[in-house]
Amino acid sequence: MEKILKSIAKRFSIGGGADIDEDNHPRILAGLFGSIGSLLSFIFFINSLFLSDYYLSFVLFIVCSSLLISYLIINSNKYAHLHNAVRHISLVAVLLFGAYLVCTGGLNNSGPLWIFIIPPVALAFFGLKIGVVYNVIFLIVICVLLLFPDDLLLTTEYSYEFKSRMIYAFLASSALSICYEASRYKSFEQLKSLTRQYKLESKEDELTRLTNRRGMWEILTSENNQSKQSDSSVTLALCDIDYFKRVNDVYGHDIGDEILKHVSYLAKTAIRDGDVLARWGGEEFLLLMPDTNENAAVNLVESICTLIQGTPYSLEDGEKINVTLSAGVCEISPLISIHNAITLSDKCLYQAKNTGRNKVVPYSQYSV
Ligand code: GH3
Ligand code: MG
Ligand code: MG
Repeated sequence: MEKILKSIAKRFSIGGGADIDEDNHPRILAGLFGSIGSLLSFIFFINSLFLSDYYLSFVLFIVCSSLLISYLIINSNKYAHLHNAVRHISLVAVLLFGAYLVCTGGLNNSGPLWIFIIPPVALAFFGLKIGVVYNVIFLIVICVLLLFPDDLLLTTEYSYEFKSRMIYAFLASSALSICYEASRYKSFEQLKSLTRQYKLESKEDELTRLTNRRGMWEILTSENNQSKQSDSSVTLALCDIDYFKRVNDVYGHDIGDEILKHVSYLAKTAIRDGDVLARWGGEEFLLLMPDTNENAAVNLVESICTLIQGTPYSLEDGEKINVTLSAGVCEISPLISIHNAITLSDKCLYQAKNTGRNKVVPYSQYSV
């Protein structure tokens, strides 16, 4: 049973879909309703034929065919432009059928029981606003049919109690369906905003709020595709805080974290619009500079280093902790891919560390 339900849910993409798509939700439900509704109305059509109620069988035939056609159209991408209109048409067909059942009583006055499917169906098809409008319209229609003086609009007879209970029950069913749809929509919106937030956070470093390594790889890949199509220079710089382990050892890990935030903030203020700074590893940062050649990149990275060196981190007791950076810079070229540029920047950084730290080494000055 569980397997059957899961396969139905999978067939109609209900729940657990990779994409959260509220626009698609009513379309899926309309398709589901079209298939179940056409099957049910077909069974009742056959039944009414056996009972020789040809008038009812004719109406059921129309309902069954229109639901079947709407199901086929809704499941075809070829007629995507008709999906919305088809949903309106099939719901109006259901409303008219509901009004017909109220008017005639259907089989032995049992027909009006079907009107209670209208509130959830209207809301599922069109969401809260339009769904409520359809519910109100149908409520007015049944009130007019049932309360019209001398039952002139009815071809059957109902007791006063039955009529009033039908209206109250329809009102209750509408109200509950509206509450349910409103809470479903609210949960859906929360889920959507959480998903957006998680997507963002999965690409953001929690401590420094800079792009993390995963986010940077995405940016680098798209930058790589773009730079292939244009002649503009793109340069990378790998920067690393000098003697950071010592900072941790002397002042503790928490102060180390604060210094990482301080350095990230300063560097972020120094880069230009369009540059991307990422936390590449522990105390290592990767800077992507589009439309920038090696010379301009070295100037920019040196200005960042100067700013950081000139802005020590202040402890609460007034003590200042000086921080310096070393960096390796490499321009991407037809011969140097992004991957290579990262490796070569790392080699330049290594050279900067080995030749005194607190300096920027461009690849053009790298000596093996
Ligand atoms: P060098 O000048 O050669 O780069 O020396 P270094 O001490 O900076 O380099 P090393 O690689 O020896 O040490 C890096 C230190 O950075 C070690 C690690 O504990 C620290 N670190 C890495 N990530 C974090 C972090 O998120 N917070 C803190 N507080 N420390 C971190
Ligand atoms: Mg370091
Ligand atoms: Mg390091």
